[in-house]
Amino acid sequence: MPKKNKKPTVAIFGLTSCEGCQFALLDLHEKFFELTKYIDIDEFRLIEDERERSHYDISFVEGNPVTSENLEILERIREISDTVVVLGGCADIGGVWEIKNYHDYKKMGCYVYDKCDTIENRKIIEVPKAIKADYVIPGCPINAQNFLDLVFNILNGKPWALKQNPVCWECQINKNPCLLQQGKICLGPIALGGCNAVCLNSRQECWACRGILDQADQKIINLIKILVDHGWTKADILEKMEFFGARDRIEQALAAADKDKNK
Ligand code: SF4
Ligand code: SF4
Ligand code: SF4
Repeated sequence: MPKKNKKPTVAIFGLTSCEGCQFALLDLHEKFFELTKYIDIDEFRLIEDERERSHYDISFVEGNPVTSENLEILERIREISDTVVVLGGCADIGGVWEIKNYHDYKKMGCYVYDKCDTIENRKIIEVPKAIKADYVIPGCPINAQNFLDLVFNILNGKPWALKQNPVCWECQINKNPCLLQQGKICLGPIALGGCNAVCLNSRQECWACRGILDQADQKIINLIKILVDHGWTKADILEKMEFFGARDRIEQALAAADKDKNK
């Protein structure tokens, strides 16, 4: 952290992404710009040219290190930052980029590009698996209030963590009909809440863009059992879990359950 009376220097970096999480910050309007009373935002390419510094107190990283150049930048960010905060689902859980990991990722590149052998096509790696991350703000896009709360907690030397409530909690507070009970594939019981169940408010199933709750293995097994009882195949269920990168977490829980069964 900076010397007394000096504002902390903050950078907001974007790797490969749609930049939606950075726009979510700008959607805070004057609340975002009021932050400059407390922090120096030195790098944020949506509002100014990028500047290269040798040190930041806090760096936020949006997007995924899809290319080796991205990965080098990410490692450099870690080297020059006291605190690194992962910003959004692309960075945190792989986001839509991670779909290719669940298939033949080399072939998938050829569905998109004609001369696919000339395109760098790496397996997707989540930022917290590539570098040490101090905090994660989940979501696609993030809930920008989480960003404000985190910044003020860091400035005040307080800890910050999200409540581990499932999406179902806010969905039912909002009195939505339950799509799972109607036989649809809704991941709300295992998905990390904090989004005000925005998809369910529009009658769209939850696909867990904020990632999976901590210690949810048994909940995952229970949800899959309910869905299979509704007539879905395991392939149908896993496909829905791919969209935002949650499938690897689900497969881990299934593998752990199989291991326990075979003991
Ligand atoms: S997490 Fe979603 S909104 Fe944020 S950069 Fe990635 S795709 Fe865009
Ligand atoms: S619709 Fe989905 S999020 Fe809402 S209560 Fe049912 S399972 Fe949970
Ligand atoms: S309801 Fe699910 S998919 Fe929709 S924003 Fe919330 S966590 Fe993401």
